Amino acid sequence: MAVSKLSVEERFWSKVDRSAGPEGCWLWTGSGDPKGYGTFWHDGRTRKAHRASWLLFKGGIPEGIWVLHRCDNPPCVNPAHLWLGTNADNVADMMRKGRDRHPLGVGPKRPARGAANGRAKLTEASVLAILADGRSHYRIAADYGVTHGVIWRIKRGERWRHLQEARS
Ligand SMILES: [Zn+2]
Repeated sequence: MAVSKLSVEERFWSKVDRSAGPEGCWLWTGSGDPKGYGTFWHDGRTRKAHRASWLLFKGGIPEGIWVLHRCDNPPCVNPAHLWLGTNADNVADMMRKGRDRHPLGVGPKRPARGAANGRAKLTEASVLAILADGRSHYRIAADYGVTHGVIWRIKRGERWRHLQEARS
């Protein structure tokens, strides 16, 4: 039998350690970047391995959308552990996971205070994401469908003060 050229899928899986089983993290054993994400040459360019995993086994990635890990394990390429989100989702997810490790503590939640207007309702997670977002207030406001004044007041701590205090 002649040596056949490996398909892209075969080439991909040849670099993955799936010994953790179907539910476990499938670890990239090929080359990687300094942050621990695998890198994989695919379709004419170097991609992050988990993004390549999504493209190969799940489908397309819309413009501006990130492939994120449920498992917080950068080298993991198990498609079942990946999800699509925006940068804001990514920040909110990190904040939520961080909060799990460092609980915000006691105190009643007052989500009604954070609701900016009738159209947009900011959740605790989105306020935390806004607080961590370094972009201009206008850009952030556009993402969340609120006015920049709302963002400004959140950043100044006039709204959701209990969250800011918990963060510091
Ligand atoms: Zn994983």
